[in-house]
Amino acid sequence: MRNYEVEVPVSETNSAIMKEQEKCISCGYCVNVCPPKVYEQQKIGIENNSDILCISCGQCTNICPVEAIKERLSYKIVQRVLKNKEEKCVIFSIAPAVRVALGEEFGFEVGTNLEHLIPSALKSIGADYVFDITFGADLTIMEESKEFLNRLESNEKLPQFTSCCPAWVKYAEVFYPEYLPNLSTTKSPIAMQSTIVKTLFASKIKKMPEDIIHIVVAPCTAKKSEIQRKELSITKQDTDYVLTTRELAALFKEENIDLRNLKPSKFDHPFPVGSGAGVIFGTSGGVSEAAMRTAYYFYTGVNLKKQELNFQELRGMNGIKEATITIKDKTVKVAIVSGLKNLDILMEKIKSKEVSYDFIEVMACPGGCIAGGGQPKSTLLNMQETKKKRMEGLYQEDEKSHLRLCHQNPSILKLYEKYLQYPGSPLAEELLHTSCEDKSYLIEGEK
Ligand code: SF4
Repeated sequence: MRNYEVEVPVSETNSAIMKEQEKCISCGYCVNVCPPKVYEQQKIGIENNSDILCISCGQCTNICPVEAIKERLSYKIVQRVLKNKEEKCVIFSIAPAVRVALGEEFGFEVGTNLEHLIPSALKSIGADYVFDITFGADLTIMEESKEFLNRLESNEKLPQFTSCCPAWVKYAEVFYPEYLPNLSTTKSPIAMQSTIVKTLFASKIKKMPEDIIHIVVAPCTAKKSEIQRKELSITKQDTDYVLTTRELAALFKEENIDLRNLKPSKFDHPFPVGSGAGVIFGTSGGVSEAAMRTAYYFYTGVNLKKQELNFQELRGMNGIKEATITIKDKTVKVAIVSGLKNLDILMEKIKSKEVSYDFIEVMACPGGCIAGGGQPKSTLLNMQETKKKRMEGLYQEDEKSHLRLCHQNPSILKLYEKYLQYPGSPLAEELLHTSCEDKSYLIEGEK
């Protein structure tokens, strides 16, 4: 008889997380990191012998000391794909938070940026292209900033909530359906990049979408569920597999890749560069900072000066951050939340009209994607310090980048010039935007 007061249950049909019951030592760590509303529903699900709710954030996989709960592994399949790819074109896209955490699995200083080694390593085991998802982040900001300014002008559907965290999107669908019209309709950076890879890039290299295998490497376990949302794909499935940072490390170890002796190389064209603003997407506050930099330009027609680019009040490890940003004659109130316990606190205040905002960034993982469920566990004993160093690694990359604004990324400008025309164009709407649905029917017990 299991004691679900001290362990979280995991459904056998969960597409992101799995559990080996016999390994569980009922330490209760997973219960502490599971968002309370989700955990409550899981217990009711077990009692009722019905579906077990999960938002797939994977914080339990990161904290479990005995590997009883872990992500549903895909790297073995990817390994086989690389060895037997025949005529298929195998493409990897790497999310920003991966580069500053992967090194922990190989003895690098925490926060070391391995951006220039990941493409070389993947090419050495058969990848045809390795792209940077910072491109997808830049594209997300183009669409999301435009959408935000439209809402600000019309004073409709405010506050605008970010929509790039799939665990938060599902949480909103289940527990806050009345706010779904407020979610940005933009796809996540990964989903946008995958759509571009399987459509415009496929036609550029004269391949059919089914001849491309697109593998995303992310700090996130929830992305394993996100890729199955049909509304995010234009082709049969725009992302074929998601590997966590931990899985990428396991793949490199099994393939005996010696990262320290690899010749550095760059991400491939047509997505060779991402902006510094796109890179900081990997940390809590980064999406808001990137969005405000671009919204400022879209609204005023001029760029923020170098010394104005860092929005310090949007940075740091606090679970709830607030800032008021002036864009010409507009005053924009921004809130940034990471960790869904914190979100519940903020939502109570919003509902009671104690506070109000125009733009709210939500990340399910405390600290944002740098602390995603799929990140290395090797430095778990000092997790706060680890998160801080990963965060610093991303801000340093932004700081030293010659390109710090998403709307100045030449690859993005070319994409709009050649295909998409302008943010929010009919083609951009078709390829880069999505929808979500009320899933409050999943709630059991008292509502
Ligand atoms: Fe995934 Fe990032 Fe959301 Fe965590 S915060 S669930 S890593 S998207």
